[in-house]
Amino acid sequence: MLANGVSRSELAVLDVIRVQGQITRSELSATVGLGTAMTARVVQRLQAFGLVREAGRSLSPRPGRPTVLLELHPDDARVVAVDIGTETVNLMLVDVHGTNYSYLEVSSSVFDGLTQDQIVACLAALIGDFARDAGTPLTAIGATGVALTGIIDTARGISVIRSNTPGWERFDLRDRLGHTLKMPVILDETSRAKAVAEMRLGNGRGASNFLFVDVGTAIGAGIVINGKPYLGEGGLAGELGHITVDPNGPLCRCGNRGCIQASSSARALVERARELLRGGVYSSLATVAETLNLHDIASAANAGDKLALGLLTEAGERLGEAISMALNLLGMEMVILGGSLVQDSPVVLEAASRIVRLRVLPVVGKDRTLLRSDLGREAGALGIGLEAVDWLFDSPVERILQRDNRRYSN
Ligand SMILES: [Zn+2]
Repeated sequence: MLANGVSRSELAVLDVIRVQGQITRSELSATVGLGTAMTARVVQRLQAFGLVREAGRSLSPRPGRPTVLLELHPDDARVVAVDIGTETVNLMLVDVHGTNYSYLEVSSSVFDGLTQDQIVACLAALIGDFARDAGTPLTAIGATGVALTGIIDTARGISVIRSNTPGWERFDLRDRLGHTLKMPVILDETSRAKAVAEMRLGNGRGASNFLFVDVGTAIGAGIVINGKPYLGEGGLAGELGHITVDPNGPLCRCGNRGCIQASSSARALVERARELLRGGVYSSLATVAETLNLHDIASAANAGDKLALGLLTEAGERLGEAISMALNLLGMEMVILGGSLVQDSPVVLEAASRIVRLRVLPVVGKDRTLLRSDLGREAGALGIGLEAVDWLFDSPVERILQRDNRRYSN
């Protein structure tokens, strides 16, 4: 028995059912390496806790009685996932398999000008309303996962710095939100959460060592080593955006010069395009100069506009330089690129791939190195939802009992 009263066999059985989705008792027995009678006893205990249920019968290849399939009880591992970016807050109701039951996007401006106490209250209200509208009261939710951009100390549950969003410094959001919601809260950085989503449901499936690079308003990275996101001391790992590629380049918000974030993020590209248009550079973008956004630049590049193509190519090349440094240092199987800069146009990914082929040592698998993420805007919420489910399954029986206590005391 482990300290919390859950046996190792129960955890092993739960984990196999979670990974397999549906499985028969005899397959389970073979996979976990427990005898048939022991497997049956473990399953019976998990069924009594309401964690596992029978899901119908499998089509047996042999005549005779079809065998019963087991699966996790989906209601017992629903979590609310929240991804707070600089522009939008994405909320998702997720179950143990990463199934998205409900999704909502609101503007991050809901937090503008709020104190930390007010942010906690606003976020708790947002989560409560979302869960209720999705038909699942908060008392039936096992945990809440919150992903944030910035430097996030995941282990201590603290938002250390969010350079694009003042007011979130030294903010113990995990514990304060958990106290308000009366529920466990898991806090992580958005790029790391996206890396978890890639590892479980995206292009990173089957890879143990890969880099996820998030190129949007800011540039961040999730580093997966031996199948786990690498946090670094105090959550500092993954600040790819602050790698210097040009010591004389533009000033970054961090105070240094020439960070790739200052020249190659979506925000930097839009600012640079406006500056060039004001200077009279010929481009189809001149007609939308006042309201210019990254989507306009990507569309113009796809239509062959030279200014847009040039800006995106340069951004991709600088990104390629930074990624090459990381690859030569860490020796990854692959790199997955996500975020607004790679969603709408292939130019950035092509330029970055070209540089990586030149810079990375030939022993690293160059041909399959750079891939585009297919998970879209929901990746951050999905990833932090999966992290919250993982947390529930660290000691599932205890968690479910805690939730039931909350349900009956409310
Ligand atoms: Zn910087």
